[in-house]
Amino acid sequence: MNDLLQTIEPVTLMGPGPSCVDASVLAALSKPTLGHLDPYFIKIMDTIKQQLKTLLHTRNELTLPISGTGSAGMECCFVNLIEKNDPVLILINGVFGRRMQDVATRLGAKVDTLEFDWGTPVIVDVVQKELSKKSYKLVAVVHAETSTGVLNPVPGIGALLKDKDTLFLVDAVTSLGGMEILMDDWGIDVFYSGTQKCLSCPPGLSPVSFSPAAVAALQARKTKVPNWYLDLSLIMNYWEGATRAYHHTAPVNMLYGLYQALGLILDEGESHVFERHMAAHLQLVRELDLLGLRMQVDASCRLPMLNAVCIPEGVDDAEIRTRLLSEYKIEIGGGLGPLAGKIWRIGLMGHTARPENVDKLIQALAAVLP
Ligand code: PLP
Repeated sequence: MNDLLQTIEPVTLMGPGPSCVDASVLAALSKPTLGHLDPYFIKIMDTIKQQLKTLLHTRNELTLPISGTGSAGMECCFVNLIEKNDPVLILINGVFGRRMQDVATRLGAKVDTLEFDWGTPVIVDVVQKELSKKSYKLVAVVHAETSTGVLNPVPGIGALLKDKDTLFLVDAVTSLGGMEILMDDWGIDVFYSGTQKCLSCPPGLSPVSFSPAAVAALQARKTKVPNWYLDLSLIMNYWEGATRAYHHTAPVNMLYGLYQALGLILDEGESHVFERHMAAHLQLVRELDLLGLRMQVDASCRLPMLNAVCIPEGVDDAEIRTRLLSEYKIEIGGGLGPLAGKIWRIGLMGHTARPENVDKLIQALAAVLP
């Protein structure tokens, strides 16, 4: 093994992702590489599709992992559905809503936004008012805003769009695997996620799912999808059907890792996994309170897997994070945008969401805080 790899020390990953990876997932990554058209590998691909459909609670045939991180999933969803001048509404209350605005604008969409204060959720009534004034091809929202720790009301927004000819796009990069997602029941048409958060797999893949309405919109395009690599009408031919057509070389070993990570979640049982996230979150909030630390987000819309904690007056943000990493081998995240220097982002994602990790962090914080 090359020198730099020999000296990597494990870190307890308690930031906004990546999260800790189970040893069985790391072992899966080191299994022998097969050809991307090998029938044995195709069996693994088919199982991954099935696992994702189970976790998303969807019947969508077009459900597969895109090669690339969560942002590739984001690009993939927009680039397949947006054509020049399409009216799009993006609901923004953090960094990742803004990124969606940027992606849709680059594709030439006519983008309207509704902005909500960072640290507070999207307000369904405000969205309803906007939808009564104008019709959109697509409405997009981030389910779990990783930059602020806020849970957005996806089922409520989905209900507004139920009888409309509007596609509902949801970013579930941080929520998938850490809380319930009922894609079909909530009326989600377009979905993307990432592997490095609550799926507890290394970064590198992005599960996406398109409803029949989204597939119909893709098929009804007047112009070619402007990005060859992310064109789902081509990628589908590799992931579906009796004869698999080469599109790009699948990241074979990464897919072994995802197969194993999804299997761990489904074996543990979704409800147990979600309860484990919630229990770790409540424990963290309780114990932070004993240290005199306050949460940034109201309890009614806090994410269990991403905890935004106010940095107390006079405490040096960077110094605390550096000491946690160098002395205790624990990573937590800092704030982004307007919340930089104001909050720490403590992740309890996937395999990380365990009482012993909360204890370890609380002990370390107690030692490093002035
Ligand atoms: N969307 C959300 C909500 C995220 O938290 C992230 C990453 O943190 C992304 C999108 C982008 O994902 P990636 O960094 O894997 O490209």
